[in-house]
Amino acid sequence: MWFLIPVAGIVGVATYAIIQFFSPDEERKQKRRIEEENERKRREEEENARRRREEENERKRREEEENARRRREEEENARRRREEENERRRREEEENERRRREEEDARRRREEEENERRRKEEEDAKEKFESHKKRMEQLKGQPRLPKFADPKRYDIWLKPDLSTCKFAGSVAIELNIAADTCFIVLNAAELSIDIASISFTHHLAATDASNSNQVLKPLYVDVVEEDEILVLDFSDTLPIGNGLLTISFKGTLNDKMKGFYRSTYEHNGEKKNMAVTQFEPANARRCFPCWDEPACKAMFKITLDVPSQLVALSNMPIIEEKVEGDLKTVSYQESPIMSTYLVAIVVGLFDYVENLTSDGVKVRLYCQVGKVNEGKFALDVSVRTLEFYKEYFAVPYFLPKLDMVAIPDFAFGAMENYGLVTCCETVLLFDNQHSAAAHEQRLAIVVAHQLAHQWFGNLVTMEWWTHLWLNEGFTIWVSYLAVNHLFPEWEMWTQFLNDCTEVLRLDGLAESHPIEVEINHAREIEEFLFDTISNKKGASVIWMLQSYLGAECFQRSLASYIKKFACSNAKTEDLWAAFEEGSGEPVNKLMNSWTKQKGFPVVSVKVKDQILEFEQSQFLASGYLEEGQWIVPITLCCGLYDVHKNFLLQTKSDTLDMKELLSDESNLASAWVKLNFNQTGFYRVKYDEDLAAKLRYAIEKKYLSTIDRFGILDDSFALCMARQQSLNSLLTLMNAYSGELEYTVLSNLINISYKVERIAADASPELLEFVKQFFISLFLRSAMKLGWEPKKDESHLDAMLRGEVWTALAVFGYDPALKEGSRRFHAFLDDRNTPLLHPDIRKAAYVAVMRRVSSSNKFGFESLLRVYRETDLSQEKTRILSSLTSSPDPDIILEALNFLLSSEVRTQDAVLGLTVSREGRETAWTWLKDNWEHISKTWGSGYLITRFVNSIVSPFASFEKANEIEEFFANCTESKIARILKQSIEQVHINANWVQSVQNE
Ligand SMILES: [Zn+2]
Repeated sequence: MWFLIPVAGIVGVATYAIIQFFSPDEERKQKRRIEEENERKRREEEENARRRREEENERKRREEEENARRRREEEENARRRREEENERRRREEEENERRRREEEDARRRREEEENERRRKEEEDAKEKFESHKKRMEQLKGQPRLPKFADPKRYDIWLKPDLSTCKFAGSVAIELNIAADTCFIVLNAAELSIDIASISFTHHLAATDASNSNQVLKPLYVDVVEEDEILVLDFSDTLPIGNGLLTISFKGTLNDKMKGFYRSTYEHNGEKKNMAVTQFEPANARRCFPCWDEPACKAMFKITLDVPSQLVALSNMPIIEEKVEGDLKTVSYQESPIMSTYLVAIVVGLFDYVENLTSDGVKVRLYCQVGKVNEGKFALDVSVRTLEFYKEYFAVPYFLPKLDMVAIPDFAFGAMENYGLVTCCETVLLFDNQHSAAAHEQRLAIVVAHQLAHQWFGNLVTMEWWTHLWLNEGFTIWVSYLAVNHLFPEWEMWTQFLNDCTEVLRLDGLAESHPIEVEINHAREIEEFLFDTISNKKGASVIWMLQSYLGAECFQRSLASYIKKFACSNAKTEDLWAAFEEGSGEPVNKLMNSWTKQKGFPVVSVKVKDQILEFEQSQFLASGYLEEGQWIVPITLCCGLYDVHKNFLLQTKSDTLDMKELLSDESNLASAWVKLNFNQTGFYRVKYDEDLAAKLRYAIEKKYLSTIDRFGILDDSFALCMARQQSLNSLLTLMNAYSGELEYTVLSNLINISYKVERIAADASPELLEFVKQFFISLFLRSAMKLGWEPKKDESHLDAMLRGEVWTALAVFGYDPALKEGSRRFHAFLDDRNTPLLHPDIRKAAYVAVMRRVSSSNKFGFESLLRVYRETDLSQEKTRILSSLTSSPDPDIILEALNFLLSSEVRTQDAVLGLTVSREGRETAWTWLKDNWEHISKTWGSGYLITRFVNSIVSPFASFEKANEIEEFFANCTESKIARILKQSIEQVHINANWVQSVQNE
C-alpha cells in the first residue's frame, strides 16, 4: 500500500518521499536508480528551475512589457481624456458664452420692452390725467351738475357728537347712470371725504348670466371747493344702468346756522348743544354728499346714532330705536320722493304737545323742556291750517306726520322741511302773559307759510332756483289766505298791504331786479332766497292774478296744477299754463310782463270833459323817467263801490268815458274815482289835482274802504319821495286821516311819519319842529281813544295798534307819553306780572324809557339790560333789543350797538337792534366801519349781513355821505352785500334829492 505523505505543508506543487522496502542489489540498483533518478530530478529541477526562471523572466519581461504597454496605453488614454476634457470644456464654455449672450440679449430685450411698456403706461397715465384735467375744467364753474347720473334713493347714516361738535356719516346712493361717462359728479362741501371708502357697485341687469356685481373704484377723486362738487373719475366708461355709490365722510357741527349745525340751549342751568339742519337752498351738501338740486328728487332712508336720552327727529316717523348703553340707533321710515333741500334732522332735548288733524295726521310741536304750554297755540294753528290746505289744494297732506320744532338759533323765521318744520323759537312760542297780539299774528302767518310749502314746494317743487320766487311768493300769499280763514277778525288782507308796500318801495329803485332772476350758480341762490323783491313782489303779483281771474277759477286751476305735478318738479310757465287752461285768459303773457322785467308802472289818471285818461309809465323812486310797459289789470270805482269797471291796460295810454259808469249824470262832477280798487294791482296811481281833492274829501268822510284809504296814502307818499308831489300836499292828505283808527292805515301813517320826520330834520330845524307837532296832533286822538290798557272785547287790531301809536308819540317826544311809558316800566321792574305793562305796549314803554336815557342818566338803559338778562322768553329779549337803540344820546347808542356784538345776543337777534334813532345815525355808521371786519366775519356767511348795511346806510340823506359810504366799501369783496349796498346808496341819493326839493318848497 502506498502512502502519500506531504513533505511540506503546502498543497500545490509538492515533493513526496517515497518509502519502500527493497534487497541490497536491488538496493544499489535501486540506489543508482534513485541517484539517477535524483540526478534527473535535480537536472529536471534545475531545468525546471531554469525554465521557471526563464519563464519567470519571460513573464516578468512580458509583464514589464505589458505594464509598459499599459502605461503607454494609459498615458495615451489620459492624454486623450485630457484632450477630450479640454475639448468638452471649450465647447461648454463656448456654449455658456453663447447662452450668456443670448440671455443677455433676451434680458436687454425684455428690459427694453418693459421700459417701453412703462413709458407707454406713464404716457397713458399722463394722457389720462391730462384728459381728466381737461374734462375737470369743463366740469368746473358749471351752474348745475352734469346729468350723467340720477340719484334714486339715499341711505344715510349719521352720528353727531354733541360734545365735540363733530359728526361722522356714510351715504349709499342708488343711482342710475344715464349717459356714457366715466364721471360721477355730485355736491359736497366742508366735508372730509374718506377717499378709500368710495366705491361704485354696478348692478347687473337681472338677465345677465354672470350674476356678480361689478365693484369699481374711482381713479381720481377731486373735491372742487369753489364749486362745492365732488368729482369721481373712474377712467373707464361706467356701465349704463343702476348702481350703488358709497361714500364715508366726516364733518363739523358748525355755528353758521346752515348745513348741519349746532344750536345752544340751557337745561337746568347747564348750557347744551343741539344738532339741527338747515339745507335750503344748497346746504345738504354740507351734511352728506348728494345731488343737491331741487329737481334731483329721491327717496331718503335715514339712520342716526345719537345719545340715548335725546330726541332725534327727521322727516319721517321712527320705525325702530335700538338702545345700546349711552347710544341709540334710530331708524326712520323711508321718505317719499323729495328734494335734498327739504331733508331735515334735529337732535336735542325736547318736550312736545301733539294733536291729530280730522283725517288723522299726527301733528307734534317740539320745544324746550318746560315750555310746552307756550307751544299750544302754534300746535292749534298747525292742525287747523293743515285741514284748511287739504281742502284748498284738494290734495291731502302727503306724509304720515308733521313735526314743528322750536330752535333757539335760527338764521331766518322758519324752514319748511318736509314733515319736520324748523322754526325760530322766538317765532313759534306764544306766552299769554308776555306775548303781544302782533306776535300772535306773525306766528300764525309763519306757520301757515311753512305748511303751505308742504304742498307748494315740497310736493310740487320748483325745477330750479330761478323759480324760487314762485315757491315763496305763492306761499306768502296763500298764508294770508289761510290765516284770514282761521282768524277773520284779524283782517289779514289789509295787512298784506304792508308786504306790498315794502316791495313797491324797493322795486321803485333803479337797482331793483325782475322777480324772476336767472340763477346760475349755487352761490347766487342765497341772495335771492331772502330777497324781498322776488318773494313779496311775487306774492303781490299772485294776488293781482287771483283778483283778476277770480277766487274760484284760481283755486280750481291751482288744484289741477298740484295734482298734475305732485311728487315732481314744475316751472313757472307750468303754473301759468294751468291758469290759462282754467280761465281762458292770456295768463302767461300777462304775468311775464310782471315777472320778467323789473319795476312797475305808475298809472296817471286825469279827467277831461268826463273822459278819464290813463297813461302808464315806469315808476322810479328817484323821480327819473324810465321806459317800461306792463299789461295792467285796471280796476276802478266811481262814487260808489257798486259802480266799478275792470279792464286790461295793454298799451301806454287809454281812455274811459265816465258816462259808461254812471247813469245818473248829475253825480258825475262830484263823484270820486278810485283806481286799483282794493289795492290788488301792483302799481301806483297818480291822480290829477281835481281827482285827488275828491278822494281827500272821500277819505275825510270815510266813504272809502280801509284798503283804499291805505292805498291812496301810500301812493301819495311814494310820489312825494319821488318829487312828483310836494311835501305840503302829502301833509294835507295825511291830515285827512286825523282820528284814523284802522290798524293798517294808521300803522302806515306812522311809518310814513318816521320817514318824513327824518327828511324834515335834514331839511331844516324849523320844519322838524313843525312836523313833530303835526304828527303828535295827528296821532293823539287815536292814542287817546285806544288808551294804554287793553279794553274788554277789543279787536286784535286795536291791540296791535295801541303799541304802535304810543311808540310813535314817544319817538316824537310827546312828554305825557314818555312819562306814562316810564311809569309803567317802573311798575314792571317791581313786578314782572304787573297789569300796567301789557305785552302790546311794552315796546312803546321801552322806547319811552330809552328816549329819556342819557349818558348822565343810564338807569332806564341798565334796567332794560337787566330785564333782558333775567328773562328766558326770547320774544322779550328781541323786544328789548329793538328798543335799545332808540335813545337820542349817541354815547348810549354806541353802548347799545356794542351790546349787540356781545355773546349775550344770539347772532340772528343782533340785527333787530340796528334801527337806530335819528340822532344816532352818524354814531351807527362810525360803529359799522370800526367793527366791519368782525361783522362781516360773523354775519357774512348768511344774508343777515345785508341788514347791517341797509339799516345803517339808507337813513342818510346827503351826496357827500353817499360818496363816503361808496369809498368805504370800495374794497369790500363781500358779494352778498353788493346789491343791498347799491340799493342803500341809491336810497341815500333819493333822500338827498328829496331834502333839496323840500328845502326849495
Ligand atoms: Zn317760504
